[in-house]
Amino acid sequence: MKITLQNLTKIFKSKNKDGTLVTAVDNFSYDIPEGKLIGLLGPSGCGKSTVLNLICGLEKPTSGRILFDGEDVTDVEPEHRGVGLVFQNYALYPHLTVRNNIMFPLKNLRGKDKLPKEVMEEKVREMAKLVQIDGLMERRPSELSGGQQQRVAIARSLVKMPKALLLDEPLSNLDARLRLQTREELRRIQRETGITTIFVTHDQEEAMSISDYIIVMNSGAVNQIGEPQQVYDDPVNIFVAKFLGTPAINVFNGELKDGAIYIGGERALDFECRKSGEVDVGIRPEGFTVSDKGTLHCALERIEVMGRDTSIVAKHPDCQSAVIRAVVDAQTVKGIIGAETVGFELKPFKVLVFDKETGERIRPLSEAAV
Ligand code: ADP
Ligand code: MG
Repeated sequence: MKITLQNLTKIFKSKNKDGTLVTAVDNFSYDIPEGKLIGLLGPSGCGKSTVLNLICGLEKPTSGRILFDGEDVTDVEPEHRGVGLVFQNYALYPHLTVRNNIMFPLKNLRGKDKLPKEVMEEKVREMAKLVQIDGLMERRPSELSGGQQQRVAIARSLVKMPKALLLDEPLSNLDARLRLQTREELRRIQRETGITTIFVTHDQEEAMSISDYIIVMNSGAVNQIGEPQQVYDDPVNIFVAKFLGTPAINVFNGELKDGAIYIGGERALDFECRKSGEVDVGIRPEGFTVSDKGTLHCALERIEVMGRDTSIVAKHPDCQSAVIRAVVDAQTVKGIIGAETVGFELKPFKVLVFDKETGERIRPLSEAAV
């Protein structure tokens, strides 16, 4: 099912510190494509849960419309919208077995929707198999791990074959390893069922790794929508650039002049553009190459080897964070062990320039032309 959001706005009666009303969702318009997995991403309090609550009908918008496959459902009650929901606190019924937890929504069907017992049993088996808990059908929730409980919750939300599945931080209660496993599971389940799915998380890596598209929100407003890699490579503003990527992008105080970016008096990179003056210069950790011909020199702090990555931790007076992190090829650090400074060449596509006032991206002429 395609979900269309038209100028969706939700203003709560609660107030911000300055006395203005809380705008949880601000003029959100987007066609959520059918059959895709969409990651809705942003810091805590930016309006993610409110967007989901509006889509499933638990909240009414202050203004704007919601359409399912072109049909206006803005005034339709939640139980008639046919969307499945899974929250962070997956409240399973503790006294019911896995089988009966999954069957619960089917047993609740009344009148013409009522299903024969065999059909219900079959659907439950199918769902349990899909989420791979079919071996645990007679257990109660207290006899399951967190990950298994979450799978039961997903099976329960899928058993009525919803037209869309909304997941609100569904992995937050799981430990690191289980999170990783369960997110791969989610991806598989979404692919197998083809259900349009919106997955809310504040964890950018989680969203990037499994989503077809990500939506990055900040204080109620949508900042950018796109394929994860595209948004990472080509952020529209400094908020998006900083929000995506681990380690985070390194931000320097820089200056645009003479067709180049200057950082601390060094001509760091050629950069032809229409603007000049002070800017924020973001350099992705993978944008540095250790080199004798380096154009940016930093004080070397230490070299960290973690698994397959080698990172250089360094300092620069014009860097906005305490240290710089550069992820580099292990071979190239040999020459600088014990050195006081390290020289970097910069990869042009990994250097992103932003307006200091507005945070908007400043593009080089070569890109602006296309
Ligand atoms: P997120 O899920 O991204 O953490 P929410 O959608 O829960 O954010 O909240 C967005 C903003 O709306 C926050 O400032 C929050 O305090 C406010 N908010 C959420 N729900 C309500 C409510 N029922 N009443 C008043 N304010 C709310
Ligand atoms: Mg939330």
